[in-house]
Amino acid sequence: MKVLEERIREEGLILSDTVLKVDSFLNHQVDTQLALQIGEEFGRIFGHLPVTKVLTVEASGIQFAMATGIALGVPFIYAKKKKAVTQSEGVYSAPVHSFTRQEDYRISISQKYLGPGDKVLIIDDFLATGAALVGLADIVNESGAELLGVGCVIEKSFQAGRSLLEDRGIAVHALARIASMSPGEVHFIGNPET
Ligand code: 5GP
Repeated sequence: MKVLEERIREEGLILSDTVLKVDSFLNHQVDTQLALQIGEEFGRIFGHLPVTKVLTVEASGIQFAMATGIALGVPFIYAKKKKAVTQSEGVYSAPVHSFTRQEDYRISISQKYLGPGDKVLIIDDFLATGAALVGLADIVNESGAELLGVGCVIEKSFQAGRSLLEDRGIAVHALARIASMSPGEVHFIGNPET
């Protein structure tokens, strides 16, 4: 997605060879128009599939899952990272190791909102090691729902996430695929000028 690649080039801060900060438009302050465009793009890519629910993890996937849910005309669910006192009913849960925070946590989704008969599209901001999305895919399996695909806004293609998901037979689409990066420089896959 050209407009996304341009924003990454203009505003992305490359903190190291593996960490990209996009807090000015995606991860902290959110460009709402861009988020809606991203939803429309996912809607275009996945619109031919019979998706019943969009799934993401709180917090940074929420705006893109919502925009995609709007584009597809279905609800979205965000997995919670901490058990809330309001979460008294049964949950599906899975362990995740966080790449950016270097810590382990559990994600959970109420059994009320996902089950056999659902056809799920997973949406997230970044695909890095794939740990978060594998956790979500495990929850989808546990619920008896069917996983139709994964969409991520930015894929760091030099990390293992895509192959981890594809090895499980999951179709992955990314709107910006970073082949490599270093401070001041970012190279995208599928863009001849880069
Ligand atoms: P993964 O499980 O694929 O390793 O990454 C999980 C989460 O870590 C992503 O959803 C994203 O929130 C965060 N993340 C991974 N890599 C980056 C990065 O380079 N920059 C930012 N801002 N977040 C990242």
